[in-house]
Amino acid sequence: MKNIIQDVESNVNWLGQFGAVTGGGVTRLLYSKEWFDAQQALKQKFEDMGLETSFDEVGNLSGRLVGSQYKDQVVMSGSHIDSVVNGGNLDGHFGIVAAYLAIQYLKEKHGTPLRTIEVISLAEEEGSRFPYAFWGSKNVLGLAKREDVLNIKDAAGIPFVDAMRNLGFDFKKDDGASRKDIKAFVELHIEQGCVLEKEGHTIGVVTSIVGQRRYNVTLKGEANHAGTTPMGYRKDAVYGFSRICTESIAKANAAGDPLVLTFGKVTPKPNTVNVVPGEVMFTIDCRHTDQAFLKSFTERLEKDMQTIASEMGMEIVIDRWMDEAPVPMDAHLVDTLKNICDQEKLNYRLMHSGAGHDSQIFAPRIPTAMLFIPSINGISHNPAEKTHTEDLVEGVKALTQALYQLAYQN
Ligand SMILES: [Zn+2]
Repeated sequence: MKNIIQDVESNVNWLGQFGAVTGGGVTRLLYSKEWFDAQQALKQKFEDMGLETSFDEVGNLSGRLVGSQYKDQVVMSGSHIDSVVNGGNLDGHFGIVAAYLAIQYLKEKHGTPLRTIEVISLAEEEGSRFPYAFWGSKNVLGLAKREDVLNIKDAAGIPFVDAMRNLGFDFKKDDGASRKDIKAFVELHIEQGCVLEKEGHTIGVVTSIVGQRRYNVTLKGEANHAGTTPMGYRKDAVYGFSRICTESIAKANAAGDPLVLTFGKVTPKPNTVNVVPGEVMFTIDCRHTDQAFLKSFTERLEKDMQTIASEMGMEIVIDRWMDEAPVPMDAHLVDTLKNICDQEKLNYRLMHSGAGHDSQIFAPRIPTAMLFIPSINGISHNPAEKTHTEDLVEGVKALTQALYQLAYQN
């Protein structure tokens, strides 16, 4: 751990070469050449460290430091190797770098662990090449269904299955088979938000990942001539939408943290300067850590939207197409991480994650916890994604301690 600053910087730069984009950042999409090169280079790196390596059928890469006493009890750490288009070089990738550096330091200092420690470079999380997310972690846990990807294609028309098979990977023989040996999963990830930085903390210990509800809503008024239709005779759908938006956001502000509410996409029809808009299609994304609260808040929103529409003589169609429950992290593991931060005198806070992560796939099935490190200006999914080196280093130190406690102590 003597050269931890240098190790962190050089390994982030090294992994960032694969899929590097001119001007900074990476594009490393599932089953692309850049993705394959990165996985192969990592495999070599793990072998050079003296780890046992293997790919599973779909392309998740593992490096194992095999335990002396309980080799079938695996303490796992890692994250996803894929990126969004023009993403940064920390999202996902740094969780892999941190995990193998931690294993390297532990091996140097303490030798063979009691339990096996495994770094995993998960094949896919972002859903950025094909319309399917968490392909990597879902396969580890036997939750991926081949029917879901059999007919999907990327933007260039390449079928998912062809992209996978061209690199020598394939479906698992038994799609439903789950790894049974994982005893704990700890994922280190950048926050991708501004809370740690704004509050001056170095580490976030994640207590839960938010649940979310998403909607497509269509508000139908009446399109008409913008010059000849007096104000009193209009059914202006943009006006109706603006009432819904303003009143809903006021309710979200009143509800306070950790509720977030977003009207991210708004499409008026006919979207022309001289026509009273007859229809507005808009989306709603609402997230909270408490399922009951999320449910009651959004149900009230639905009712109030209906009331506004009927007061304005309009029709409204509300389609709730996503309803995902919040995922709590393992309370015992959260305590372990908290104690480590206390012992190491790290400047940390407990917090929830507003973004989705591989950990949400693991957590309902395997004791799981997450560590966050700050993102400068909260920026992510962007080549400008950055974290101060000293924060990256603190993250690796905390993860190393966590893996030590889980794998070297009885
Ligand atoms: Zn990520």
